[in-house]
Amino acid sequence: MNSKIISFRNFKEIKKKPTKKTIETKKIRKTSSRTSGTKEWASSNINIQQGCKNGCKYCYAARMAIRFKRCENLKDWTSNIQTYENNITKNYRKRNGRIMFPTTHDIYINNLVNCLEVLNTLLRAGNEILITTKPDLYCIKEICDELYQYKKQIQFRFTIGSKNDDVLNTWEPNAPDFCERISSLKCAFWNGFKTSISIEPYLDSNPQGVIEIVEPFVTETIWLGVMNSRNLPKEGRELYENQKKLYSREFLERILEKCYSLANGKLRLKDSVRYILGMN
Ligand code: SF4
Repeated sequence: MNSKIISFRNFKEIKKKPTKKTIETKKIRKTSSRTSGTKEWASSNINIQQGCKNGCKYCYAARMAIRFKRCENLKDWTSNIQTYENNITKNYRKRNGRIMFPTTHDIYINNLVNCLEVLNTLLRAGNEILITTKPDLYCIKEICDELYQYKKQIQFRFTIGSKNDDVLNTWEPNAPDFCERISSLKCAFWNGFKTSISIEPYLDSNPQGVIEIVEPFVTETIWLGVMNSRNLPKEGRELYENQKKLYSREFLERILEKCYSLANGKLRLKDSVRYILGMN
């Protein structure tokens, strides 16, 4: 995993640089290889399903599935969930590097038993797992109980893009509300698991508000990322147009100082943010 850590000092130095430099950096970066997306967090991914009831209107996995004709549209993605039976019963071995689970679905009551089966197999083999989810409290409690003996091998990464339920509901119509996600974070934290937060994409003008609330319960990192607008499902395109100014360099420069100070050294910038700021 290659997660470049940008300190607040780095950010202030970059902030002073002229925009021209940023444009040049962007030109160079077009030809250079870079670590981005889930590769910033883990070496490999495992999934047991394709499709997700949460129906997030920015879902990257759904975009890829639509693009490569594995599903028709976001409605299909949300309602026509396919299960990979072989991936549930497979005898996983120890892999090099951390494994992210899941990336093309979420963990919810209907697939919890199968998710636990896979996680148990992976952990028994000695793997390090990054569990990424918009957390359902019941599922998090069960995972904490069932996998307690493996807690040193597990890090939770809970996605919380806003503290405003109207905003969450607009973008992530079937995902747990803010309160449930915070309760899940506290549950994992109080059970002694490693905890981290993804504010990617941030969904409104106040990611600082999320950082302030989650920081005391985060043992590891808080990741800030913008929304990738390429190939957005049609349900997300219009919404994006109304708020794309949130993903500008100007907006980021305005909020980042506060974000750094509230995050107490835990803030990490996703590749998407570093790119906009010319920090790579
Ligand atoms: S929770 Fe993740 S996989 Fe599910 S729809 Fe949202 S972004 Fe996609």
